[in-house]
Amino acid sequence: MNPSYSPHSVVLGGSGFVGSHLCDRLLEAGHRVTCVDSLLTGRRSNVAHLDGRSDFRFVEQDICSPIAVDGPVETVFHLASPASPKDYYTYPLETLATGSTGTRNALELARRHGARFLLASTSEVYGDPEIHPQQEDYWGRVNPIGPRSVYDEAKRFSEAITAAYRRELDVDTVIVRIFNTYGPRMRAADGRALPAFVSQAFAGEPVTVHGDGLQTRSFCFVSDLVDGLFRAAMSGEAGPINLGNPEEITIGEFAQEVIDCIGSPSELVFTPRPVDDPTVRRPDITRARTLLGWEPRVPRKDGLKRTIDYFAVELGFESAQRRVTDRASRRRSAPAARSAVTVPS
Ligand code: UDP
Repeated sequence: MNPSYSPHSVVLGGSGFVGSHLCDRLLEAGHRVTCVDSLLTGRRSNVAHLDGRSDFRFVEQDICSPIAVDGPVETVFHLASPASPKDYYTYPLETLATGSTGTRNALELARRHGARFLLASTSEVYGDPEIHPQQEDYWGRVNPIGPRSVYDEAKRFSEAITAAYRRELDVDTVIVRIFNTYGPRMRAADGRALPAFVSQAFAGEPVTVHGDGLQTRSFCFVSDLVDGLFRAAMSGEAGPINLGNPEEITIGEFAQEVIDCIGSPSELVFTPRPVDDPTVRRPDITRARTLLGWEPRVPRKDGLKRTIDYFAVELGFESAQRRVTDRASRRRSAPAARSAVTVPS
């Protein structure tokens, strides 16, 4: 290949939280990037910093209509879908359409261009799992008609059609299953645990923990996840491959970590648990380690701090955050004093 040639990647869902970080990463690696997004839940502002670059193009389009891209395409990344529980409860039919018709259009785009295809699937394919931690050969326990099914089953269909395109039409595909991910550019009101906890803690309001807070999740910082997506796409693997951080925490403890990290006076309040909310979730990442040489590197306390700094600006609590941070560093420089702002490890 000509050494000055820039591979062309198409990122479907490229102005969402994860998609926009992936666009950044691909550009850094010297790819040309076409970002396609309907802006149903993605935000144009997530990629606005890339406008004006000759190697970046934004196309506003719903992938439920056929997708046309000019010129050669080496890789298609399919991340398009509402992805937080609140978003897919709000857009149930759109979520089903994107996971079915949209995924087929995405695969057709890859087939026409002879491109490598990466499907961003999800830990939700395991449903409320009986196997813990979750390995890729576990088939899952999903309620096919519950409120979450619009996402879970759409992603399971996406996996099925991706596997069929590989078997029947020889498309070069890889399926990755993304576990809970956090970081800058999450939407404050997307309903997920972290943005909810951070917004409430900054406002000094009660922090809403669903159920008894003993359900668990394992949170991966977005830069780690994007590195895994990139490695999976550049490998010759077919997957499925879990991508996530195996460090598990209860949601109650996680809420308290956020409160402590902000130094907020907020207290926990226990509210009803959503239907079919998984009780435990933790990836087995042996495959990703072995096949991709990948594992998460950002400890939760660092990732949380970076995410909270982002939300402080986004929510207009920047000066409050600075006051808390200043107070904490003054206490740190006085050795006898105990810091009010602690980040449990
Ligand atoms: N959760 C919570 N309070 C909130 C939002 C979420 O306790 O305000 C819980 C939710 O019920 C789940 C966990 O936090 O047990 C993670 O939820 P999230 O929506 O972030 O992602 P999920 O893993 O359910 O897709």
